[in-house]
Amino acid sequence: MLKVSDLSVHYGVIQAINKINFDVHEGEIVSLIGANGAGKSTILKAITGLHRSSQGEILFKNQAIQKATTKKIVEAGISLVPEGRHVFSGMTVLENLELGAYLRKDKAEIKKDLEHIYDRFPVLAERKKQDTATLSGGEQQMVAMGRAMMSRPKLLLLDEPSMGLAPIFIKEIFNIIEAINQQGTTVLLIEQNAKAALSIADRGYVLETGKVVLTGTGKELLASDEVQKAYLGG
Ligand code: ATP
Repeated sequence: MLKVSDLSVHYGVIQAINKINFDVHEGEIVSLIGANGAGKSTILKAITGLHRSSQGEILFKNQAIQKATTKKIVEAGISLVPEGRHVFSGMTVLENLELGAYLRKDKAEIKKDLEHIYDRFPVLAERKKQDTATLSGGEQQMVAMGRAMMSRPKLLLLDEPSMGLAPIFIKEIFNIIEAINQQGTTVLLIEQNAKAALSIADRGYVLETGKVVLTGTGKELLASDEVQKAYLGG
């Protein structure tokens, strides 16, 4: 579904990503893990057209998208839940969710999807008229995920969904990611929390300073000495 080949990304003279290769097959959860500054967020920015790559190719369903606009990329079926959530405060939960459907015109289907999201996140149904600024971090993460789902993505990109969350919320968010995947959405997950991210991943890639240094199934990576030492304190 997604194939990234020889991708390099620069910020001015700084090379954040150095000829990276990875792919995501339809139906999978793939996790990219790595320490601060490894280049995880940069990869998602390149995929979504928020920052242009300097070299390489990004194929989504066999179409090159590395030069496409973000609008076209969303229309093609990719949706990003950014790091730090970026929910719009001053707007209600419902208004935030509706924003996720702004490219859609099928009103009846939008309504159905909204109900579906309230079923998945009952706390959002309870708070639909509440300003998102007043929600907890975990609830804001749910709004951001719900908003991304409102564009009916085929590929959902998640940038550090566990960041700043209490362990109980982390568990809940990762359960929800698995459930969303089981209902047919392919997931690319970027995480510093290697244990949580690899536990639910079909496959994973370990990034260090802009390069892939290790790849395998989620299970293999969790068990590997390198990952144990560098990310799991083992
Ligand atoms: P974190 O987990 O801390 O968010 P990350 O793995 O997502 O880290 P990136 O944010 O992708 O890492 O950053 C990769 C590299 O690019 C880092 O060295 C960072 O300092 C640099 N970088 C990121 N954004 C910019 C920018 N706007 N201008 C210059 N350098 C940047």
